[in-house]
Amino acid sequence: MTSNVMPMTTSASVPTGSESAIAAEGTVTDRIVQANARYAETFGHAGLDGAPALHVAVVACMDARLDPLGALGLELGDCHTIRNAGGVVTDDVIRSLTISQRKLGTRSVVLVHHTGCGMETLTEDFRGDLEAEVGQRPSWAVESFQDAEQDVRQSMQRVRTSPFLPHTDDVRGFVYDVRTGLLREVDPAS
Ligand SMILES: [Zn+2]
Repeated sequence: MTSNVMPMTTSASVPTGSESAIAAEGTVTDRIVQANARYAETFGHAGLDGAPALHVAVVACMDARLDPLGALGLELGDCHTIRNAGGVVTDDVIRSLTISQRKLGTRSVVLVHHTGCGMETLTEDFRGDLEAEVGQRPSWAVESFQDAEQDVRQSMQRVRTSPFLPHTDDVRGFVYDVRTGLLREVDPAS
C-alpha cells in the first residue's frame, strides 16, 4: 500500500521513517488508532482535574514543529492549550480563554508564535482566492502576518482589552525559534 500523506517539502524525495511506518500499517489514522490502544494500556493520568493545575492558558500556533508542553516544561493537567493557524487571538480564542478563566480558574495567558510561520506566506487575498474557487467568501479573516513579533503584540493587546476576560494582568508573548527550541519574549511596548 502506498502512503496517502503528501510530502510538504519538495526535498523529501525519500520517505522518512514516519512515512514508511504509515505505508506499512495503512492510513495515518489507522496508525493513530493503534497507537492509542497502546497508550491506554499504560495510562496513568486517571486522577487529573480538568481545571489546569498551574492556572495558565497557552495560545500557540498549530505548527507541527512546536510542542507546547515540552517547550514550556509543562505536563498533562498543567495548562489549557489553545491552538490555531498562527496562534492568533481570534474571537474563537477569546471564547476559549473566557471559558478557561471564568469556568476553569486560569489567570495567566502565554502567547506563542514562532519563526518560519506559514502565516507569513499568506495574505488576505487568500479569502478572495477561495471565493473565486468555491463561490463563497469565508466569514473569517485569514489573520496572516508578516512579522511574528508584531503579531504577538497585537495578540497580547486583544487579550488585554477583551471585556470578557477578568484576568489580564499576566499576559506575556513569545516567539519560539524552531531551529533552536528557544523562546524569545516580546516586549509589548516596543
Ligand atoms: Zn505557525
